[in-house]
Amino acid sequence: MINVNKIREDFPILKREINGKPIIYFDNAATSQTPLPVIDTIVDYYSNYNANIHRGVHTLSQEATYAYENARIIIQKHFNASKSHEIILTSGTTFGINLVAAGFDSLLKREDELIVSALEHHSNIVPWQMLCERTGAILKVIPISLKGELILEEYEKLLSTKTKIVFVGHVSNTLGTINPIEKIIAKAHEFGAAVLIDGAQAVPHIKPDMQKLDCDFYVCSAHKVCGPTGVGMLYGKEEWLNKLPPYQGGGEMISEVTFEKTSYAELPHKFEAGTPNISGGIAFGAALDYMNKIGFENIASYENELLSYATEKLLKIEGLKIYGTSKNKVAVISFNIDGIHPYDIGSIIDKLGIAVRTGHHCTQPIMDFYNIPGTVRASFSFYNTKNEIDVFVEAVIRAKNMLV
Ligand SMILES: *Cc1c(COP(=O)(O)O)cnc(C)c1O
Repeated sequence: MINVNKIREDFPILKREINGKPIIYFDNAATSQTPLPVIDTIVDYYSNYNANIHRGVHTLSQEATYAYENARIIIQKHFNASKSHEIILTSGTTFGINLVAAGFDSLLKREDELIVSALEHHSNIVPWQMLCERTGAILKVIPISLKGELILEEYEKLLSTKTKIVFVGHVSNTLGTINPIEKIIAKAHEFGAAVLIDGAQAVPHIKPDMQKLDCDFYVCSAHKVCGPTGVGMLYGKEEWLNKLPPYQGGGEMISEVTFEKTSYAELPHKFEAGTPNISGGIAFGAALDYMNKIGFENIASYENELLSYATEKLLKIEGLKIYGTSKNKVAVISFNIDGIHPYDIGSIIDKLGIAVRTGHHCTQPIMDFYNIPGTVRASFSFYNTKNEIDVFVEAVIRAKNMLV
């Protein structure tokens, strides 16, 4: 069970007013809000032990190194990776995908095939398109149904021994669909293809188990799970991380440098060139600790309640259509109202203190599929309430009456 009033006390921003109204934050799929234990972790770092890591013999540096490496272990345990050096700390999902895509340069030849899904965020499309341009490999796309679900029979037809890597999202940021990644991973492995899962939208709602999933790579960002921006994780199976070349050269990622030859550091440092976001990494660990204290099962059941409640209320509005109607979805609702541009709804309800996202949500292929310019997207978190949904639905009705 979730005590939402108590949880809301942890989030100072929820006390804010926007345009004279109490804030209603329904843009959690873009970034989540930050609870006090995470804010305090960052303040504590800069107040008490700010130092560069892995290098100094002095006490501050040792304390900072310990906290940073401890965060890696918190992350490892959370995702049930078998080894802590399979966790690469990155600047976020986008960086993790680019790292892997760049690494595949040397592993692909012309006519090799890559499989993506039509549900992907641009971050999980563009780096692979760039890879195809460099290597002559070919990109194939898993189509979706009107409900916004991947069509698995079509996926199976795309797979062959030419397939080298499959990259799909765990959860769609636009439609909320939870993809059957277990099946997708197992099928790809039958053909010897690697699989990368974009977990950016899954990790706020689901606790994924790397060993059970058996995926080769999994990426996410801290800022969507109550952590800070500019930090994230790339999980990679040890054998894959050993196979991929380093992504960036610099300090920290070497074991020996001469002008004749440089040898690279062991994992995970091989992929962590330069001074990282130290406070961010430590705060990422604090964010996962915070969410685990609440419990992911509690989070999922509470958010599902919010999702059904909001879906039912919104569908009573005449002319309102919801995109993404899979039974397996997280608390994300994308919708439009007949004859009204999503942007206009977003602007009017902002005046009433409500934050939603409007536009294509970095998923233009989904917009093209439904033949729409964009949607209004309300995405809920465990700190939102049914009362907020009531106010939001009233605001949407008011916007509709003003605009038609
Ligand atoms: C947010 C998001 C990304 C990009 O994450 P960044 O933190 O901006 O790197 C990628 N994929 C999905 C599904 C997302 O929701």
